[in-house]
Amino acid sequence: MIGVFHFDLLQQSDGARRGVFHTPRGDVQTPTFMPVGTVGTVKGLTIDQVAATGAEIILGNTYHLRLRPGHETVAKLGGLHAMCGWEGPILTDSGGFQVFSLGALNKVTEQAATFRSHLDGAKIVLTPEHSIEIQQALGSDIAMVLDHVIALPASAAEVEDALARSIRWAKRCREAADRPEQALFAIVQGGLDPVLRQQCATELASMPFEGYAVGGLSVGETPEEMYATAGVTTRHLPAEKPRYLMGVGTPRDLIENIARGIDMFDCVMPTRNGRNALAFTDEGPLKLRNAVHREDLRPIMDDCPCLACRHSRGYLRHLFNAGEMLGPILLSHHNLMYYSRLMQQARAAIEQDRFAEFANSKLRGWGYEPVPCG
Ligand SMILES: [Zn+2]
Repeated sequence: MIGVFHFDLLQQSDGARRGVFHTPRGDVQTPTFMPVGTVGTVKGLTIDQVAATGAEIILGNTYHLRLRPGHETVAKLGGLHAMCGWEGPILTDSGGFQVFSLGALNKVTEQAATFRSHLDGAKIVLTPEHSIEIQQALGSDIAMVLDHVIALPASAAEVEDALARSIRWAKRCREAADRPEQALFAIVQGGLDPVLRQQCATELASMPFEGYAVGGLSVGETPEEMYATAGVTTRHLPAEKPRYLMGVGTPRDLIENIARGIDMFDCVMPTRNGRNALAFTDEGPLKLRNAVHREDLRPIMDDCPCLACRHSRGYLRHLFNAGEMLGPILLSHHNLMYYSRLMQQARAAIEQDRFAEFANSKLRGWGYEPVPCG
């Protein structure tokens, strides 16, 4: 397994890390943002449009693909890469988060998470081994361990119980994952408790995983709590492995967490907001349905090479007001391009060893003061 996946830490600046994650389907420059292709499509965009934003790796959702079209059908269609036409690396989550956020009547035992499909009510038993089996059938390049996700706030006993189970399930996933061409990332849990985060990170770091994720965040805590928890967790993870903060976040969240040593992110925010007429810019989000844009000839951003910024704000507003499908397509492209370029700029700033200066300038542009690292 050694050598197939390898992370090179190239440079550090003010806590931020510049690296390259080598995979059999290509290199991923970090820090990186992964567009979310929940059911084998990044909503609204062709795969060429996704690639044109500069994305090097995309995400697929095990839970959704298990239910529809089914992992066996994906395998018969040649696997997730062939099915959706993406030749670069793909990361699949384990289904843990969706089971707990979407799966009605879910029940967790030591053996498995049992839940009912949100589509047809069918009963599904998701063991750690089955999660790996699904991710192998999908053929992703990076698989995630199945973890026991709980809602916050939760009692200390609930957090500890879920954490201990997540570690036992991570071991079972490691034993079941036997394909050298598929990396396996562990997921650190522990709620907002720094002691539990340290304990979980240390325990998982002693096991052979190709990367480590910080899970259980972006579930209702404040941004400051999220940043503090990410910071505590990365301090106890091995420097020579990539760190992935799951399901995060706003441009501000990305910059603050890069400053705390995170290398990889994913979030539906750029595409979901794009579908709702919200465009990210260096001056903060722009609501394109607003009347103020009616006769505005300017693009969303002057220097943006995306498909939307060939047009005026007035035209984009008209598309949304008329309910035309091109509006969501164009804004999804702009937002993914914005996230991708933000990561490119962050990488350049780390290379030039001026990450703090870069981060402060971006944060202030969006109207935030930087949160001091603890
Ligand atoms: Zn643009």
